[in-house]
Amino acid sequence: MPQFPLPEIPGKKLGWAIVGLGRLAVSQILPGLVEAKRSRLAAFVSGSPDKAKRLAQVYGLPEKGIYRYQDMERLASDPAVDVVYVVLPNSMHAEYTIRALKAGKHVLCEKPMANTPRECEEMIAAAKTANRKLSIGYRLHYEPYNQALVKIARDTAEMGPTRLILAEAGFSIGDPTQWRLRRAMAGGGSLMDIGIYALQAARYLAGTEPTEVNAQVSSTPNDPRFTEVEENVTFQLRFPGALVANCTSSYGVGVNRFRVCKPNAAAELDPALSYSGLRMRVFRNGGIEERQHPAIDQFQTEMDHFSGCIQDGTDTATPGEEGLRDLRIMMAIYESARSGKPVALPS
Ligand code: NDP
Repeated sequence: MPQFPLPEIPGKKLGWAIVGLGRLAVSQILPGLVEAKRSRLAAFVSGSPDKAKRLAQVYGLPEKGIYRYQDMERLASDPAVDVVYVVLPNSMHAEYTIRALKAGKHVLCEKPMANTPRECEEMIAAAKTANRKLSIGYRLHYEPYNQALVKIARDTAEMGPTRLILAEAGFSIGDPTQWRLRRAMAGGGSLMDIGIYALQAARYLAGTEPTEVNAQVSSTPNDPRFTEVEENVTFQLRFPGALVANCTSSYGVGVNRFRVCKPNAAAELDPALSYSGLRMRVFRNGGIEERQHPAIDQFQTEMDHFSGCIQDGTDTATPGEEGLRDLRIMMAIYESARSGKPVALPS
């Protein structure tokens, strides 16, 4: 008989319930689960039974694994489900996270964590009470290009200290009737949805917390998309020492770049936050060097990281406290734009 290596027997995979079968769940999360090493699909929670049944057929989920929002509490007696992934509109994150925690499940909640810092605090308290883990869907923390840029940003030996961070995140938003453009559901405009990536990047590249923010908001006059929420936000963050971040958030134009500037060198990701196809370039000594890093499935990696934390009893890299910090800073960004003055951030 020919001799060849057999694949490893997989370890136990944790069961995931996906709550809200929208674009992100269908296009990224479900495909990501198929190849996951420590995670597998165990349930859907959805308000659209036909869609849920069809997706259950595609992914081999038995019909008894389909729940409606109103009977989500029944997850408590479903031993196949260990983790609940909340992929709903922003205004629903707090309620469904807390209900899942009360049902005894660990929760990964999409960004932004919620619409207000108060809701974030309630989610963190619910996780403590339930003695369950809570993580926020900040996928770029687990992404190799972003991790490599963090290393460059924080390392002074190779290229000197970082003095300036540029972070730009935006896209041209379509359908004016969608929930992202309704304040009650989205909590705000481009900042809450896409600008949060620029804020996150500024914070993880700096490796410290900002002390002050100054911000400006603008929207194209008479554009039906921006009657309730803002189109653009530009904001500057001051960090301890001489470090500054200049950030852009937009629902009007496509921007997708993080850049770390040092006295005689710079490094950038462009695109920086896409699901694939990221590129890194390093500029120094008059030359441009392209650097390659592993291309991964970002959602699979994020889910497997969280399953691993639960199985191994370790801390997630993106806990609820990280989401709360962003919400507090985003509220200060809006306050600064309203008042026209810089706002100090508590340490
Ligand atoms: P979609 O609008 O595509 O889907 C949201 C889903 O939520 C719907 O399909 C529906 O699922 C459910 N839902 C329940 N009640 C409502 C309601 N009143 N209005 C609309 N939908 C409702 O949103 P996305 O998938 O794009 O975004 C979901 C979340 O994921 C957001 O918080 C967003 O910020 C985040 N996100 C994160 C990304 C990342 O890269 N980390 C990228 C994109 C989004 P059903 O029909 O099953 O009930």
